[in-house]
Amino acid sequence: MKKTALIYTTEYQKYNFGPDHPLRPLRIELTYSLFRKLSLLNSKTLEILTPRPCTEEEIELVHTKEYINAVKKLSVNPNDKSVNPFMYGLGPGDNPVFKGMYEASALVCGASVTAAEKVWTDDDFRAAFNPAGGLHHAMADKASGFCIFNDIAVAIKYLKKLKEDIRIAYVDIDCHHGDGVQSIFYKDPNVLTVSYHQDGRYLFPGTGFINERGEDRGEGFSINFPLLPNTNNKMYLKIFRTTLPKILEIYAPDILITQLGVDTYYKDPLTQMGLSLDAYRHIAQTLKTCAFEFCNNKWLAIGGGGYLLSVVPRAWTIFLAKMLDVELKNELPASWIEEVKKKAPYEDTPYSLWDRDDRIEVELLSHPEIAKKMIEYGNQLISINEEKYLPDLEAKLRALS
Ligand SMILES: [Zn+2]
Repeated sequence: MKKTALIYTTEYQKYNFGPDHPLRPLRIELTYSLFRKLSLLNSKTLEILTPRPCTEEEIELVHTKEYINAVKKLSVNPNDKSVNPFMYGLGPGDNPVFKGMYEASALVCGASVTAAEKVWTDDDFRAAFNPAGGLHHAMADKASGFCIFNDIAVAIKYLKKLKEDIRIAYVDIDCHHGDGVQSIFYKDPNVLTVSYHQDGRYLFPGTGFINERGEDRGEGFSINFPLLPNTNNKMYLKIFRTTLPKILEIYAPDILITQLGVDTYYKDPLTQMGLSLDAYRHIAQTLKTCAFEFCNNKWLAIGGGGYLLSVVPRAWTIFLAKMLDVELKNELPASWIEEVKKKAPYEDTPYSLWDRDDRIEVELLSHPEIAKKMIEYGNQLISINEEKYLPDLEAKLRALS
């Protein structure tokens, strides 16, 4: 049976914007701890790899020299007066400067490159997972939305060096639009970007609309599904499962790359979506099936957003278990519950691996008019896919071949 690589090091903890920042590296530590306590790390089909940091040359595949130099200088001395951090999206707020930020970011990029290389070059592997990556907002010349260097884009460029005409499908399920990756490959027909996210009218970064379709040769190869706030499991899964497999079947990529942000969870403090953990079981199954059937059985899985320390580890455990073909019971080890209580005392205590919280469903039942509009909206997205996205994609691919 084919194997899965998990890219992990305690050094991930160094990507840390400080104690008051919502992106806490502790979520990665708690994720690894849950993997271990559920015995996923002992699985015969799992291999744990230690990442190497990216070289500056590799980071330059995506980012401008000027931006990299600014990050390097501020990384040595956060008060370096020769650099204006605001010119590069850095500074108080989303992306505060911290000592060692260059090395920490180069390591996150390196972890995605390590994962990409493994799953692409070693045919014994069908999946590789870097939970610390997914920094999809970073642009070529600036930081954005907690993302300094775009590890996904660096991994894609790295793969393109290994095989020039490689065809890559990038699927982003983070609650925020994957704007950085989309923008970096906007003119590239060999990188299809597909993003499912909360509608940009109601959430950062304010992009990801249905008319963002790519440019020049890349036209038709950017696909967006902006979803309404409070979209629940049922509505989400209907859209996701009706649209994605068809897109991937037509595009037939050499490899599938996914950004697995789980800030679509209904209690996530930064967003307004309505998924419970049960949804991720179905999403993981769809991605795995798609990777197997349409993507050459190669799946590069990368982490992403998610701001509840008690939720992110459970969601990513569901994804890793799916990659490993391990069926987990809906239980949590008592020692992990204790660990969460101790390290994240301000959060609700988790009791089961997944929940089927139907709060959003119940709320919608008492507002049938809103529910009806949301269902109609979802059906419109499905129609846009059938009538526009899919035929366009087919036509563009035909024109290129
Ligand atoms: Zn996000």
